[in-house]
Amino acid sequence: MASPSTSTCRRVQCANPIPAALAAERLCLSHFLDEAFLRADHTLALCRDGCAINSGELEWLLADALTIVNNLEEPAAPNPDVRDRMLELLLILANLQEYVAHHSIHTERLA
Ligand SMILES: [Zn+2]
Repeated sequence: MASPSTSTCRRVQCANPIPAALAAERLCLSHFLDEAFLRADHTLALCRDGCAINSGELEWLLADALTIVNNLEEPAAPNPDVRDRMLELLLILANLQEYVAHHSIHTERLA
């Protein structure tokens, strides 16, 4: 039987444990933040350029990523550095949410 408590990050050469909130992503907090930043920046850039963005990507950012970051608050305060990055990510996601709410953003489903 798979034991979730022993699973580690899916990134190569990363042995960090996966927090419960990230079980579905199979990433440690640090790599999750890396990935979320990249995806949020990319999506925000597309919005600003008026390009169509992938609706699945937008959902991931505004639903999944947001939920994960909010859930991470609970167990133990991570180190201040990680905490700063989490807050920064929340800001970027808030900007994105704002952008989507006030501009007509084209989203498209990618097969
Ligand atoms: Zn990792």
